[in-house]
Amino acid sequence: MRALCWNGVNDLRVETVPDPEITSPRDAILRVKLSTACGSDLHFIDGYLPTMREGDVIGHEFMGEITAVGSEVRSVAVGDRVVVPSFIGCGNCGYCQQDLWSLCDNTNPNAELQTPILGYPTAGIYGYTHAFGGYAGAHAGYVRVPHAEENCFPVPDEVSDEQALFASDAWATGYMGADFCDIHPDDVVAVWGCGGVGLMAQQSASLMGAERVIGIDRFPERLRLAREKAGSETIDYTAVESVVDVLQRMTGGRGPDACIDAVGMEAHGTGIGYAYDRVKQALRLHTDRGDALRQAIVACRKGGTLSILGVYGVLDKFPMGVVMNKGLTVRTAQQHGQRYVPQLLDHAAQGQMDPSYLATHRFSLEDAPRGYEMFKHKEDGCVRPVFVP
Ligand SMILES: [Zn+2]
Ligand SMILES: [Zn+2]
Repeated sequence: MRALCWNGVNDLRVETVPDPEITSPRDAILRVKLSTACGSDLHFIDGYLPTMREGDVIGHEFMGEITAVGSEVRSVAVGDRVVVPSFIGCGNCGYCQQDLWSLCDNTNPNAELQTPILGYPTAGIYGYTHAFGGYAGAHAGYVRVPHAEENCFPVPDEVSDEQALFASDAWATGYMGADFCDIHPDDVVAVWGCGGVGLMAQQSASLMGAERVIGIDRFPERLRLAREKAGSETIDYTAVESVVDVLQRMTGGRGPDACIDAVGMEAHGTGIGYAYDRVKQALRLHTDRGDALRQAIVACRKGGTLSILGVYGVLDKFPMGVVMNKGLTVRTAQQHGQRYVPQLLDHAAQGQMDPSYLATHRFSLEDAPRGYEMFKHKEDGCVRPVFVP
């Protein structure tokens, strides 16, 4: 099959690789119908996230059709159109049982690469470094899905491929971020970042009943999407002196009840085991990125909620004293997709929320390297490139 492979820093190539095979009776093989790029992929493409190996197939947001199942798979079958969350859950461990799927104890076979840094391993993820399990990714003709019963979610007929695609990560992540805010009807929710996850967080916050949602970014097309698709008020942070002051003015001096960080530290990654020098270098290259979280902490009203979806390294400076003195509640996680996907598919089927506008550009898999370039540089208003194998 053809697949998009990482071959080194900023070196993505579409290559012919062996088709995946069933390796456990609980596996399924999917023919990928659609996959999309994620901002977190840029961390290893740019070389800021180690434990990638030459030839690794990348991609972790996808949907497709089941073409084979292992002998113990009963609840899904060949021919099912399904969406698969990016983090792999086992369904049996204590974390999966508590709906904390990205913390699964059993799906990262390379736990020893994470435990020195994190203390305990996270779940595995498709196409995202060997520290996160070394699973082959989904920018490919086919992909192997372990624990198929727990990870394959059949898509209702009323839901399009593109709607289902974003449920696999961007939508689930944004929705989880809004869910973390425990939104009340008169709440104001501010969201840093109007990319795929940020837009989904804004729309989800509205759906959950927030009175006002404010989106913060610098790209005019993304701010327009926030206003038109998510119904948000917007702040172009390059056009104002202080985002914190503007938010205070917009909220009568009180501050937003909840602040969602959907930016993260672009050049920073999840930082398993890399040198501090590299972090400093990264920060110099992307100084505007680390500001989002600090702004959110200062802008948030006293006793408010800070929901962190952006991806951070393990050495970040975090103003704990501000969080503590203001009595903020901090909620954060990599997405627990399996907990949210059924709700998301239901929202799509009922016409309550439609994420398909994130798919601003469509490429054949052969053109995926160009799609990533466009995505990385946000050319032509690119929010998410979608790849069709
Ligand atoms: Zn992602
Ligand atoms: Zn588990």
